[in-house]
Amino acid sequence: MTNMRALYQEVILDHNKNPRNFGTLEGANRRAEGDNPLCGDNYRIFALVDDEGIIQEVGFEGTGCAISKAAASMMTVRIKGKSVDEAKEMVAEFRAMLTGHLDPDDDHNLGHLKVFHGVSQLPQRVKCAVLPFHALEAALKGEERTSTE
Ligand code: ZN
Repeated sequence: MTNMRALYQEVILDHNKNPRNFGTLEGANRRAEGDNPLCGDNYRIFALVDDEGIIQEVGFEGTGCAISKAAASMMTVRIKGKSVDEAKEMVAEFRAMLTGHLDPDDDHNLGHLKVFHGVSQLPQRVKCAVLPFHALEAALKGEERTSTE
């Protein structure tokens, strides 16, 4: 557990400091804005989905706390090259993990995203971690806005 916590902090600090896929994605054909007014997190998620339903490119921009930014960064790394269906499944699994409905040691498609399991112990931060996933889901459904409230 101690190692997991150390890894969690290290990964989150790294992605917060050096967010991957950060910036507007030119040519995106899916986009949505996500807002978490409780913390002040606000992000726009961009994706380029090809005719086969594969997420070719993904990006995000916006501002928020370390947890929300790291979650957005790691999410974009995880979904690049995946199908829309796989991405939706990952969103459902991430949400289930943070609400205590998925054991991170079971089979899942979360990869390194499982470091966020610790956030399930911090109820006021769960929305921060889930926000980018809400926004991604909205974008893939063709909605333009989403909010945790
Ligand atoms: Zn936050």
